[in-house]
Amino acid sequence: MGEQEMMPEKEERTTEVDFSTMILSSLTLCYQCGTCASSCPVAKITSRFNPREVIKLALMGEKREVVATDAVWFCCSCYNCQERCPQQVPIAYVIYALRNIAFKEQHNPRIYSEFASAFMNEGRIVSISKFAEKKRSEYGLPPLQPVGVEALRKLLSAIRFCESQKIKETSL
Ligand code: SF4
Ligand code: SF4
Repeated sequence: MGEQEMMPEKEERTTEVDFSTMILSSLTLCYQCGTCASSCPVAKITSRFNPREVIKLALMGEKREVVATDAVWFCCSCYNCQERCPQQVPIAYVIYALRNIAFKEQHNPRIYSEFASAFMNEGRIVSISKFAEKKRSEYGLPPLQPVGVEALRKLLSAIRFCESQKIKETSL
């Protein structure tokens, strides 16, 4: 497949933007009932994350409060909130859209940069440690083989993944 064929068409990129806009526009359906917060397993264990609060801040246009803090990175994508929301707000998708905005504006946690670098360089988000190699050997498992990264890099280049690596690391 030639490089030209691998690059997304301009029209497709526009559709992606429209999708994010559509997701975020669904926020206006929210009437702040709190069902999402009471269903969220993350909100149960930390006061640093509350999906109802994220939706409220986004609705109020408090962009900095939403994307420049660590709140949107706490969601574990369990979809409890989304399944139970009486207004069918696609809350997890809203959080993904907000993460994309945060990433583009260089507010991502450092660990994601590390995952991305390892993925680009080794084809895995977590490097194979000496400890893992030793344990595999002890359990009679074969050594992990290097991943061929050339094809992967072509794909990542086609979706402009490398550009997203020009990011400032935050102190999460
Ligand atoms: S459950 Fe739905 S309507 Fe209720 S606060 Fe959450 S997003 Fe808003
Ligand atoms: S999808 Fe995210 S916000 Fe929704 S309940 Fe699960 S962890 Fe909470």
